[in-house]
Amino acid sequence: MAKKFKNKVALITGSSQGIGAACALRLAKDGADVILNGHKFDERGEKLIRQIKAMGRKVSFLEADISSVAEVVKLIKDAIKIFGKLDILINNAGLETKSDFLSVSEKDYDKVMDTNLKGVFFATQTFAKYCKSKKRAGVVVNMSSVHEEIVFPNFAAYCVSKGGLKMLTRNLASELAPLRIRINNVAPGAVSTPINQDLLNNKKQLKSVLENIPLKRMGKVEEVAAVVAFLASDEAAYVTGSTYFVDGGLTYHYEEQ
Ligand code: NAD
Repeated sequence: MAKKFKNKVALITGSSQGIGAACALRLAKDGADVILNGHKFDERGEKLIRQIKAMGRKVSFLEADISSVAEVVKLIKDAIKIFGKLDILINNAGLETKSDFLSVSEKDYDKVMDTNLKGVFFATQTFAKYCKSKKRAGVVVNMSSVHEEIVFPNFAAYCVSKGGLKMLTRNLASELAPLRIRINNVAPGAVSTPINQDLLNNKKQLKSVLENIPLKRMGKVEEVAAVVAFLASDEAAYVTGSTYFVDGGLTYHYEEQ
C-alpha cells in the first residue's frame, strides 16, 4: 500500500518526548521524512533518530527554543534547507505552569504564552511565507488542548494560550486557504505524558480525573498522533479551521445531577 506521506517532509516542534515524539514516529511510519525539534539534542532525540532511520526515513534534529521568535524563524528556514522543502508543520511544543490567578507572575505568563501561542503564530507565519514564495501547498496542525474550550482553574495562562490557538486556527483557515494551506487543531484531554507526571503520581487526583472522562481512562500518545496523521494527510483535504478533540469524551461529557 502506498505510504500516506510519501515524498513529504514534516517538522514537529517539541518532539523529544510525549505527544510530539509519538507524532514524529507516526508520520515517519506513514512515509514522511521528519525534522525533530527540542531545546537540546539529547539521548531521547538520538533514540528517535535511530527508530526513524530504521523505518527507512530521513530524519534530522534542530535545536530551537519555540518561545523565541528569532529562533522559530531560523528553525523553519533551517528545516526547509535540510531536505530541500517542508510540507507539514506540527506545532506541538507547549507547556503549562500551575498557579492560582492572583499569584501568576509576568515571567510565568510570558513563558506559557510565548511558547504555546506566540511561537505557533510566528512558526506558522514563516511557513506560510515560504509556501507562498514557492507556490507550494502546506498543512499545519496545532497541538491545542481541551482547555481551548473548557476551564482549568489555576492554569489561566495555559487556557488563554490554548483559547488563542483556537481563534488563530479559525482565522488562518480563511486567510491561508487561498495559499492552499490547511490548518487545524488537535485538542487532547488527559494523556499519559511527562507533562502529567504530578497527576499520574497522585492516585486520589487521578481517580477523580478519570471519573470525569466518559471513557474512564487516560489517552495514549499514539491515539493523539493518529488524529494528527489524519489531519496532516490528504484524507483530510476538505478539513480546515477545525478542532478535533481526542479526549475520551471529556469536553462535552454529561454530568449526572
Ligand atoms: P511534554 O512535556 O511531554 O512534551 C512537550 C515537549 O515540548 C517537551 O519535549 C518540551 O521540552 C518541549 N518544549 C516545551 N517548550 C519548548 C520550547 N520553548 N521550545 C522547544 N521545545 C519546547 O508534553 P506533552 O504532553 O507531550 O505535550 C505536547 C503538547 O500537547 C503541548 O502543547 C501540550 O499543551 C499539549 N497537550 C497535552 C496534554 C496531555 O495531557 N499530555 C493535554 C492537552 C494538550
